[in-house]
Amino acid sequence: MLRRFTPTAYTKSFRDITPERLQERGIRAVITDLDNTLIEWNRAHATDEVIAWIRSIERAGIQVILMSNNNEERVNIFAEPLGVRYIARANKPLQGAYKKARQMLQVKDSEIVCVGDQLMTDILGANRARLQSILVLPIVTSDAKATKFNRFVESKIMKKLVRQGLQVKEGLVWNN
Ligand SMILES: [Mg+2]
Repeated sequence: MLRRFTPTAYTKSFRDITPERLQERGIRAVITDLDNTLIEWNRAHATDEVIAWIRSIERAGIQVILMSNNNEERVNIFAEPLGVRYIARANKPLQGAYKKARQMLQVKDSEIVCVGDQLMTDILGANRARLQSILVLPIVTSDAKATKFNRFVESKIMKKLVRQGLQVKEGLVWNN
């Protein structure tokens, strides 16, 4: 039961996810969450740091797609100025958006990694899709209302995972 919620890596922040570490793992595409993974859920636009991160990954020849459960307007305001492809209203952990992302990316499943801050959506969805995943700490601990119930359940699952040895690592360390 816990395996479904176990990420392939657990880092503090997107900053730990460097092109070099991704390339070592053979990654050619990143499917990343938006809210509380790249920016605060209540901030509209990308920070300079997020822009630099996305660009550094793209420069390494790794594709980036945003996949968010948030609405079209929210995701578009963030993604359009950056020219980053996105899927809004993704309904993670349901699988429709993962199928769509795979079609957009045209790489092998083993070359894709999903990044996100939530076990119940980002990590569960990636595991169901049999894709690798990186859990990051949420940027802020407050959340949109819709996320609060997930966070409550998540905190219980997280306690169990931590008991089994899951811990946040400095830098990007792959679990298996
Ligand atoms: Mg999120």
